[in-house]
Amino acid sequence: MTVTIKEPVLVLGGGLAAVSFVGTLRSQGWNGPICVVAEEEEAPYDRPPLSKEFQREGDEEKIRLDLRLAKDVEWIQNARAVSTDLQGRQVTLADGRQLSWGTLVFATGASPRTLPALASGPAPVLTLRTLDDARRIRARLVPDAALTVIGGGVIGLELAATARAKGANVTLVEATPRVLNRCAPSTLAELVELTHRTHGVDLRLGCTISRIDGEQLHLSDGSKLHTDLVVVGIGVLANDTLAREAGIATDDGIFVDGHGRTTCPDVLAIGDVTRQRNPVSGRFERIETWSNAHKQSATAARALIDPSTPPYAEVPWYWTDQYDLKIQVAGLAGGDQEVVRGDPASGKGSIIQLRDGRLVGACSINSARDFMAFKRLIAAGGRPDMERLRDPTVDATKLGVPATA
Ligand code: FAD
Ligand code: NDP
Repeated sequence: MTVTIKEPVLVLGGGLAAVSFVGTLRSQGWNGPICVVAEEEEAPYDRPPLSKEFQREGDEEKIRLDLRLAKDVEWIQNARAVSTDLQGRQVTLADGRQLSWGTLVFATGASPRTLPALASGPAPVLTLRTLDDARRIRARLVPDAALTVIGGGVIGLELAATARAKGANVTLVEATPRVLNRCAPSTLAELVELTHRTHGVDLRLGCTISRIDGEQLHLSDGSKLHTDLVVVGIGVLANDTLAREAGIATDDGIFVDGHGRTTCPDVLAIGDVTRQRNPVSGRFERIETWSNAHKQSATAARALIDPSTPPYAEVPWYWTDQYDLKIQVAGLAGGDQEVVRGDPASGKGSIIQLRDGRLVGACSINSARDFMAFKRLIAAGGRPDMERLRDPTVDATKLGVPATA
């Protein structure tokens, strides 16, 4: 087998994708030089707990990423890469240092979209992406604090649920008429909305913030709210500026193939910063999930060592925990037919999307075993029998109907 890696390997960004990539290179037996440049001062950590367990428990050690596989890696923390020279194979850091590379890997992730018109005043206006953001939010989520969340996506909803559990009063303002409009079917959104309302969240749908005046928020429906803290969760933008300025193809995300290769030789990109072909939709998309950052990066690393590695083609999926709902979502949010299995409204069941009889999407609520089976069926393009699919007493792992052309 010919190893194609050009030395040294330089990874920009120190999140999950970077850790997974360098850990896989080492676990596959590659022992050449690796350097990671990470903007944050923190030792690498996992982001999912920041809106969930960390808000409740505040345990910083529990969220650190496991670096045991990432042996003999030079880790430059608190350092930001500011330019990339593809011809000269150099990256310049903010402090002027220059680093050479043979293989360059962008693992720079994404940054929250902001609302610049909403400046912090007596009530801080924050976003939630980093451990530092999470610490600042946590310190303010005390009983009876008035939290306003802007954005009814996964971040906003998870934070609203956690804040209610901590006794804060929560208003959630979402611009569109429903929550989770980017990443889940409306049947699931309705269930999530009802659950939040039952737990006392004041949900304002189809509404935006017009301005903030001290601790007073003015909403587009003409109402006013007192607030102690505003958290904006209105989506993210890929950190792709460095790549774009270097001449690599980007469009809110660096275009990559199934081995993480960009349009420039010896330059890869992995994780949230990438725009890749979604195997279910067939479109180039950004897949902003933990599982993608972990597994796409591992595939890219494996493919550097063994070019015959199959391209990354996992069905995109994510989980979200809100109150007692453990929700898992895979594939597409819509099809031409929807099947409800079990009783999601009472806390256990699945909402399944089909297109032309094929399973293309599934959301499971407190039904992890069914979810795994549905994910496999989506990957296989399976056409299950409708009655059996609907019936929760039929073992989901036995629904496997081979895909037909
Ligand atoms: P990131 O984690 O964003 O890491 C990129 C790193 O690169 C950052 O540390 C950044 O500072 C650094 N960087 C950027 N530019 C430079 C530069 N020029 N020089 C040096 N360093 C740079 N997904 C799920 O599937 N389920 C969940 O429940 C879930 N919960 C989440 C909760 C929260 C609060 C957040 C924020 C995300 C959550 N996610 C969840 C998404 C998941 O965490 C991300 O998909 C994953 O972290 C992406 O990893 P990454 O390494 O690609 O990017
Ligand atoms: P999302 O894109 O999921 O949701 C943002 C929501 O805010 C959208 O519904 C958006 O509507 C709405 N919105 C946009 N502008 C406004 C506005 N001015 N006022 C009110 N609402 C507005 O992003 P999040 O911020 O929730 O999540 C960010 C990142 O974190 C993503 O990468 C996500 O994958 C990740 N994450 C994942 C989790 C999980 O999987 N469990 C948990 C937490 C985070 P529109 O679409 O019309 O713009």
